Amino acid sequence: MRYPHLFRPLELPGVTLPNRLLMGSMHTGLEARPDGMERLAAFYAERARGGAALIVTGGFSPNDAGELGPHRAQMSTPEDARRHRVITRSVHDAGGRIALQILHSGRYGYHKSIVAPSPIRSGINPNTPRELTRAEIEQTIADFVASAKLAREAGYDGVEIMGSEGYLITQFLAPRTNHRADDWGGSLENRMRFACEIVRGARAATSPEFIIVYRISALDLVEGGLTGWETVALARAIEAAGATLLNTGIGWHEARIPTIAQAVPRAGFAWAARPLKQAVAIPVVASNRINAPESAEELLARGDADMVSLARAMLADAEFAAKARAGDRAGINICIACNQACLDHYFIGQPASCVVNPRAGRETELAYAPAAARKRIAVIGGGPAGLSCAAVAAERGHEVVLYERSAQLGGQFNLAKRIPGKQEFAESIAYYAERLRRAGARVVLNASPREADLRGYDEVVLATGIDPRRPAIPGIAHPKVKGYAEVLGAQAEVGENVAIIGMGGIGFDVALYLLERGGRAALEPEAFARRWGIDRSPSAPGGLDGKGAAPSRPAHRITMLKRSQTPFGHTLGRSTGWVHRAELARNGVRMLKGVAYRRIDDAGLHVTVDGREECVAADTIVVCAGQEPRRELPARHLIGGAREAGELDAKRAMREGAELAARL
Ligand code: NAP
Ligand code: SF4
Repeated sequence: MRYPHLFRPLELPGVTLPNRLLMGSMHTGLEARPDGMERLAAFYAERARGGAALIVTGGFSPNDAGELGPHRAQMSTPEDARRHRVITRSVHDAGGRIALQILHSGRYGYHKSIVAPSPIRSGINPNTPRELTRAEIEQTIADFVASAKLAREAGYDGVEIMGSEGYLITQFLAPRTNHRADDWGGSLENRMRFACEIVRGARAATSPEFIIVYRISALDLVEGGLTGWETVALARAIEAAGATLLNTGIGWHEARIPTIAQAVPRAGFAWAARPLKQAVAIPVVASNRINAPESAEELLARGDADMVSLARAMLADAEFAAKARAGDRAGINICIACNQACLDHYFIGQPASCVVNPRAGRETELAYAPAAARKRIAVIGGGPAGLSCAAVAAERGHEVVLYERSAQLGGQFNLAKRIPGKQEFAESIAYYAERLRRAGARVVLNASPREADLRGYDEVVLATGIDPRRPAIPGIAHPKVKGYAEVLGAQAEVGENVAIIGMGGIGFDVALYLLERGGRAALEPEAFARRWGIDRSPSAPGGLDGKGAAPSRPAHRITMLKRSQTPFGHTLGRSTGWVHRAELARNGVRMLKGVAYRRIDDAGLHVTVDGREECVAADTIVVCAGQEPRRELPARHLIGGAREAGELDAKRAMREGAELAARL
């Protein structure tokens, strides 16, 4: 057994879980949709078949005030319980177990009727909550308990009481948000009462075997959050109140420290579960940025926790657990922590999917059925679009030849993987190359087929990607001007003073790359904590050191420029863009918008900003001004950047590749 700690059964009262892999709760965006229950049933059943020991659903509110958004996603009536039966039946038929997450958003809800222990607005929500009365607090506890009871009637094996990430229960716990002077505020005992009463009530209303997971905030990462000592006291109280498992969450949503983005090292917060494991007898679950079986195995072997929670990792690969059990590491589609198709979709009201697995969340509509007739298919280009298309087409039974003009597969992913924190892109290239090998596709590297070479194929798919745009600025041919591919490929000398033309995703990536060049493969958890101002001692409120993100001495002085007046980094992901902006601010990067480029010469880049002329002194000017489609051949099928270069990203490229291959 390659991962022995991961695949040890876990004994719970009346239940034995087959392994230590919990599929963590995720907002899928399906919870409130009319067809949501059927789609969730298919989504979770696939993950149950894939071997997850226990699945936790996305959050459902126990009442109206606790809703996250304007659309109803509740477990508060017998009718709700009836609607959920399709989910529990499907998961049980697939051999799995599933718990319903009960989440009351408190002051985080995006609607007008939000409530909280005290009327204090969060910095990430324009609405101020109304203070709960004492009677309403009692009623909210009763609603949580009723919700747990209904979940049991719906066939759920358990519930997860959401007590982390800054939602209502955490708002009661932390002095930051609880200013009450009655029995529900003040001392730690009073602040813990709300959480403990909910767990105690849920246990009394269900049965000793019913799994009650309590999601505890192992680290708040906000000022006025709990200290480590207080969190340990809470863990003990929750155990005494009757919880079966203690899952952990890291950071409130308003924390200004990345907790799941690419910048976080793999399993980078597992250490925060350890003091809790040492304090209680019930199993403790580690979470956040655990995306590979070896990281999970390592933290379990080290004794940080008894179980691991993976959410996005199981969006990326429904069979994560089964493959890990079989020791098939190369066959696992690793989550690259980009958040682009999961969390970022949630923020724009779209159902969650996955960049590297376009079927995720679309199990009922995107099928990769065996091909009715075997065709000969040529895919030209081995970037994300071509890889995705060739893999699915070959797995469906087609005879596929993938031509790649360079010496390696991966296309733009080969540049992306060089960016600090984006090393995970290398995983996707290796995974897709392995899928092609297993499906029997033929890969021809260093090959640029001509039209005549493609005559024998039934279908030709052009996935040749893009060419970087070279803007017509006088002096653009100056030797100090470099393309982003040259810089990221380390083929260009870069001076101390750098100007970057263009502030899309690639402009930001180039800036990060230059600031950290020669730096790290990936930060260790200790270094990550130092960089972001995390204090790992148990006495620090919120786990913060009070100094904030550490300043740095960057290798380059960078000025970034763009013509438009839009906010800096507005095209970056909603859940990750702020991390990039914070990194650049920490390194003193200057940003200019609304510029007109006039010329480039020995002195640097001459621009006009707000009607004023300025020369941005630069030894190197890096062009990150978008792309044009590369279409060297006529073809019936165009996908990815070859079809449309504007707004190109890996998400669209991989989705188009998979969707086309499903139709061929
Ligand atoms: P992009 O997002 O389209 O940005 C191109 C930049 O070049 C813009 O800032 C644009 O700004 C500027 N530009 C366009 N035409 C120009 C011209 N003729 N002269 C001077 N400047 C010009 O493209 P990208 O940065 O190359 O990124 C490509 C795709 O990859 C994007 O869809 C992006 O989402 C994705 N990506 C995402 C990330 C991420 O972290 N999420 C990272 C890398 C790439 P002005 O017009 O204002 O000057
Ligand atoms: Fe992971 Fe990105 Fe997929 Fe989300 S979209 S599950 S972060 S790979």
